[in-house]
Amino acid sequence: MNYGPIKARLDRGELVILDGAIGTEILRRDVTWADHQVLSRPTVIRAIHEDYIRAGADVVSTNTFQLTRRALFNHFRDETHRRQIGAPDLDDRADRLLRAAVELAIEARNAAADGRAVAIAGAITTLEWCFRPDLAPTPEQARAEYRETIATLAEAGCDLVLIETVNSVGEARAAVEAANDVGIPCWVGFVPDERGELFSGETMAQAEAALAPFDPDVLLVNCAPPEDCRAGLGELGEARRGPIGIYPHIGRFDPPEWLFTDEYPPNRYRREAVDWIELGARVLGGCCGTTPEHIAALAELRAPS
Ligand SMILES: [Zn+2]
Repeated sequence: MNYGPIKARLDRGELVILDGAIGTEILRRDVTWADHQVLSRPTVIRAIHEDYIRAGADVVSTNTFQLTRRALFNHFRDETHRRQIGAPDLDDRADRLLRAAVELAIEARNAAADGRAVAIAGAITTLEWCFRPDLAPTPEQARAEYRETIATLAEAGCDLVLIETVNSVGEARAAVEAANDVGIPCWVGFVPDERGELFSGETMAQAEAALAPFDPDVLLVNCAPPEDCRAGLGELGEARRGPIGIYPHIGRFDPPEWLFTDEYPPNRYRREAVDWIELGARVLGGCCGTTPEHIAALAELRAPS
């Protein structure tokens, strides 16, 4: 119901605006982002979603980056150690936070969409660290874990899943297969290096060829500086038959948080986006460091309806 009008716009070759950063926007609003703040500071999360919707986003992504059982369990030596020293609710905490995060996005849509079609994308990423393809689990293991997370996101009310900051073709394929298993539309964002290739050394053409049989609706590049994303978008545009998109980050990674820089204020970001549209991008948004003002600037590029 909410995704249909957006898919139709993609099929007509029209622009679709994705939201901007959420994790770094939480930081910018002076809140740390431990535990995703889904249960402890729901009003902050809901307000960020609402601001992106009012800025013109057609798709808002949930605050669920790396919100998985694996991410919680990785802090322990093994299951015995986790039972010995871990908090008692770790078995179902990811599931509970995923559902709460989707609910916040739905509440924001109810409050701010004002009759406009806004789709909610369940955001997921690599199972291990997003810049380390060498750590990826086996495809069978990945597909099983993705299926569990995606089923929860779908059940909670997501209209699609956004599989983002993916660093290898194998993990992308496992996630897309899992989305197909669950029966929910999916978009896939790859993190490009400075040559526009995946961190695994694979090319965008290889990614397109491997995913084409599973028919993801949009392939994108994200979570790299604008110039690296532009290189990746160029590669993707040459290989891809379906819709493509881009949502770069702005600033510097300052583990575990973010260093904001003023290199790309909203006006400059919009000027870059004109170039991205020329390269074929039809989905535009922002990754780490972008704000509702950046998304409002992108929304100005949309043809008046
Ligand atoms: Zn990012």
